Amino acid sequence: MNEQTAPVTHEGERVLFPPLPYDMRRRSDAAVKDDALRAAVEAATLTKDTARKATFAEAFGERYDALRGLAERIKQHTLDHLDYYLDQFIDHAEAAGATVHYAADAAEANRVCLGIAEREGVRACVKAKSMVTEEVRLLEALQAAGVETLETDLGEFILQLDGDAPSHIVTPMIHKDRASVGRAFERELGAAYTDEPDALTAIAREHLRDKYRRADMGVTGGNFLVAGSGSVVVCTNEGNGTFCASTPRVHVAVVGIEKLVPTFEHAAVLLKLLARSSTAQPLTVYTDILTGPKRRDEHDGPEQLHVVLVDNGRTELLADPVMRDTLRCIRCGACLNACPVYRTVGGHSYGAVYTGPIGALVTPMLKGLTNYPDLPQASSLCGACGEACPVNIDIPHLLVHLRNELNAQRVAGRAERRAFKLYAWVLKKPWRYRWASRLVRFVLRRRADDDGYVTRAPGPGKGWTETRDLPAPAKQSFRQWWKQNKRDEPQRHRDTEVN
Ligand code: SF4
Repeated sequence: MNEQTAPVTHEGERVLFPPLPYDMRRRSDAAVKDDALRAAVEAATLTKDTARKATFAEAFGERYDALRGLAERIKQHTLDHLDYYLDQFIDHAEAAGATVHYAADAAEANRVCLGIAEREGVRACVKAKSMVTEEVRLLEALQAAGVETLETDLGEFILQLDGDAPSHIVTPMIHKDRASVGRAFERELGAAYTDEPDALTAIAREHLRDKYRRADMGVTGGNFLVAGSGSVVVCTNEGNGTFCASTPRVHVAVVGIEKLVPTFEHAAVLLKLLARSSTAQPLTVYTDILTGPKRRDEHDGPEQLHVVLVDNGRTELLADPVMRDTLRCIRCGACLNACPVYRTVGGHSYGAVYTGPIGALVTPMLKGLTNYPDLPQASSLCGACGEACPVNIDIPHLLVHLRNELNAQRVAGRAERRAFKLYAWVLKKPWRYRWASRLVRFVLRRRADDDGYVTRAPGPGKGWTETRDLPAPAKQSFRQWWKQNKRDEPQRHRDTEVN
C-alpha cells in the first residue's frame, strides 16, 4: 500500500511522512470516510474552540482585541530585531552557566544533540513534547544512535507505543479514542485492558516514573526564550517537562529561534494568551522558567543545561516580506480547532509535522511550496483561523498569497489552471456570470431529489457531494427575485416619507 493512501488511524505502525511532492487529497479521502476519526477530531476541536471563546470573553471581554494587538506587536518587534535579541539571549544564558548551540538545519540540530549524548555517555533519555524536535526528527536520530529515548507527554507516549505520529500541535493524539489507548497498553506494556482514564493514567505514570530516575539526559522544547535573562520557559500540563528538565544530569532544550521575547513582562502577555487559546486554561499547570543549570548550593536541577537554537529555514522565512508573519506563531493550536477543514480530515492528512491552517503555511515555506502544493488549497477561507489566532496572524490572507505563488510558479496542473482561467473570464462580465449561474442552476435543479437535495453533483462537484448533500439552488436567482419584488421599494419608501 502506498504511504499516501495508508489508513489514517494506526495501531502498532508508525505513520511515515509521505514521499514528495505530497498529494493531500489521497489521505483526506481516506480520512473523511473514517467515521471514528471524524467523530473524535470534531468533538475534541469543537469543545476546545467553544471553551476558548468563553474563557476569553469571561477574562477580557472587549479588551481581548487590544491584548491580541499587544501580543502581535511584541512578537513582531522581536522578530524585527531578532539578531539583537539572539545576542542578548546568548550572553545572558551563558553568563548563567548554560551552553548555547546554534543549528542551521535539522541535521545540525540532531548532530549537536547526539554530540552531547556521546560526550556525556548518555544511554537513556526522556523527552518532553516539542514541535521543533518533531520537525528535526530528534527521537528517531537518538534511537538510531542507540540512545533509548522515551516520550513522556502522555499523548506522545501513547503514540510512541502505538508507532503512530502526532496529528495536532497541542493534542497530539486527538485522533485516538480511549479504547485504542487501552489496547496499546495491553499490547506493549502487558497491562490488563482498561479504558478508564484514571486507570490508564496510572499505568503510564508507573511506567514513566522509573524512566525519569534512570535517564541521563532530558530533552525539552521551549515555549519562550527570554532574552533579558537568558531563560527558557517550558509550559506543560502534566509536569513531565519539569521532570525532563530537572531529574537527569543533562538537560537539552531544543528551541526555534523565533521563540525569543525581550523580557519576562513580554513573556507574561503571551502566557496569558497561550494556555487560554490552547486549552482554555488561564495558565498551563506547570510553567517552568529555567535559567542556567543547578547552582552549587542547589539540590535539584541538571548539572548541565544546553540550549540548541534551531534555524532550519526560519531566517529565510524572516526575509520574506509577507510570509514572515507566520514566525509570530506561538503554537497554541487554536487555528486548528477553529478550522472546518482540519475538523473534517484530521492532522495526518496534512502529511507533515505542522498541521491545520498554520501547517498549511509553515510546511510549504519550510519544506518547499512545490513539495506541498495542496496545503494552501486546504482551506475554505472562511476566516475562522485568523479570528482565533491570539497573535493576529492573517492566515486566510497568507493562504491566498501562497495560492498566487503557486499560480505564478505554474505548480498547478494545466487542467486546473485552465479551469481557473475560465472561472476568471466568467466573473469579469456580469452577463457571463448571469449566463453561467443560470446554467448551473438548471443542471443542479434537474439532478435534485424530491427532498430538494443533490446527492451526486456532476463534474468537479462530485467530490463535494461524496460526504454531504447539496441543497438545490432556488428557482430564481437573487437578482431575479430582487427585480421582481424590491426594485420599486426605495421609490415607495421615499413617497411615504414625503407624504
Ligand atoms: S497561527 Fe495563531 S492560532 Fe494557529 S497555532 Fe499559531 S498562534 Fe495559534
